[in-house]
Amino acid sequence: GNSAHKWGLTSDRKQKMTRGAQKQGPSIVWFRDDLRLADNQALTAAVAAPAPLLCVYIFDEESEGFRPHGGASRWWLHHSLAALGGEISKKGGRLDLFRGRAKDILPALAAAASAGAAFWTRRYGGAEIALDTVLKTRLVAAGVKTQSFNGQLLHEPWEVKRGARGSFMVYSPYWRAALALPDAGAPLDAPEKILASPYSRGAPKRKSLDELGLLPKRCDWAAGLSANWRPGEKGAQKRLGDFLANGLQAYASARDRPADDAISRLSPHLRFGEISPRQIFAAVRAAETERPELKAGASKFLGELGWREFNYHVFFSHPNAATTNLQRRFDAMPWRDPPLHELKAWRRGQTGYPLVDAGMRELWTTGFMHNRARMAAASFLVKHLLIDWRIGEEWFWDTLCDADPANNPMNWQWVAGSGADAAPYFRVFNPVLQGEKFDPRGDYVRRWIPELAALPDKWIHKPWAAPAAVLLEARVELGKTYPKPVVDLADGRDRALKAFEAVRR
Ligand code: FAD
Repeated sequence: GNSAHKWGLTSDRKQKMTRGAQKQGPSIVWFRDDLRLADNQALTAAVAAPAPLLCVYIFDEESEGFRPHGGASRWWLHHSLAALGGEISKKGGRLDLFRGRAKDILPALAAAASAGAAFWTRRYGGAEIALDTVLKTRLVAAGVKTQSFNGQLLHEPWEVKRGARGSFMVYSPYWRAALALPDAGAPLDAPEKILASPYSRGAPKRKSLDELGLLPKRCDWAAGLSANWRPGEKGAQKRLGDFLANGLQAYASARDRPADDAISRLSPHLRFGEISPRQIFAAVRAAETERPELKAGASKFLGELGWREFNYHVFFSHPNAATTNLQRRFDAMPWRDPPLHELKAWRRGQTGYPLVDAGMRELWTTGFMHNRARMAAASFLVKHLLIDWRIGEEWFWDTLCDADPANNPMNWQWVAGSGADAAPYFRVFNPVLQGEKFDPRGDYVRRWIPELAALPDKWIHKPWAAPAAVLLEARVELGKTYPKPVVDLADGRDRALKAFEAVRR
């Protein structure tokens, strides 16, 4: 099993024994995927100790096994760090930025500042855990007390137990077990004041935010991101408030309709830890206590948060999930060598299938895609085009603001059929039927594919089937203003099912 001990996550007992050797200097708060001040246990613990703080962020793409951020995530991170730095300053503190290997920078900083302690919020990737374990050992050996906390999940992956049989691979029993555990508790307030420690000479060189080089250099594809998002803790709290007031009540039924504004859009904020799942959980519970009409929406919504928890639970025991099939029989899947023009059509939202194309264009423009469209677009790539899910996962990783090390691969594997508790492979999403069911008036398609806007509802999800006169009237010229289907749906489906025979047993 995966005991926390084995992973080196709890060495607090050992530390007590070495406490005699501790230094008295400032405390380091190492921010990673927890870019917030409220409900941040690591920060709260550091503030409680009577020492000034060194608040630190290290942009680290060099450590072994680290997955570099994609473009949209880098954009988000830039603005999130700007917001965090501003909030820390308002409290009297300072956020110091570094770039390079955390393994070198953190110990050097601790030594130069004679730091007495270091605090951080846990991460769950294999490489991240390995790095933290090494750092913990090193720092403790140098007399720096270290303490790590949960801030990213309601429950640690090892806390939700499936009897003696290890971890869960099925969502429903996992979430039942998680809900049966004691509540994660009340969220913490942000600290009143942060006492800044002076920056020590001889410490690793600090960088300005611009020097981290996170913003796009060539074209400014980020304009659509700026127009749609407000990274940072304030933006996250505003989203949550708006969602509780306007989205939650209808969530259970409206969450599947991509044209509706019924979803929370909290995923990128969660990805960077600008809000904690515990804060969300507590706020939803409080809202439904006050307004019982929210009950159905609340339970569905918390269940989705449960998928995030479940994915992290599985990810913790399958750290290679972004590259390896969870069900190894899928290793035999005869994926096609992806034809470049098909791949390009998919990426650019030019497949000729309006629901897929609308989703892919929403993604490119805003760094986000509605979950219903994600499922349709991913399924289309993996099944109708028979292209390896890993190729799609990479594109999403680069273009999603919420690109998440657990959620992205797990969801792709769910769609592909190779994942934990996955959709069966033979269930092939039909983008026309999905569109007609979940975007019945075509509002979502019209929003993202203006060249189809004048088509009547009846044809909006299958323009190739429309009579010539209807197309003419709507000024749609297939193959010119909007592409013809890149693959025939029935042919693509048959090919996928035939390929699936190879992994059947
Ligand atoms: P809401 O409907 O408001 O749900 C609230 C929260 O619950 C979300 O913020 C998210 O944290 C969690 N959640 C909802 N659905 C899922 C789900 N299926 N799996 C895990 N958690 C979920 N989500 C990511 O956060 N990062 C990703 O990189 C990502 N990649 C995906 C790739 C594919 C192919 C698919 C099909 C889904 C992916 N998802 C991913 C899951 C889901 O689409 C998004 O979490 C959701 O659309 C975010 O919108 P929201 O915050 O408004 O969600």
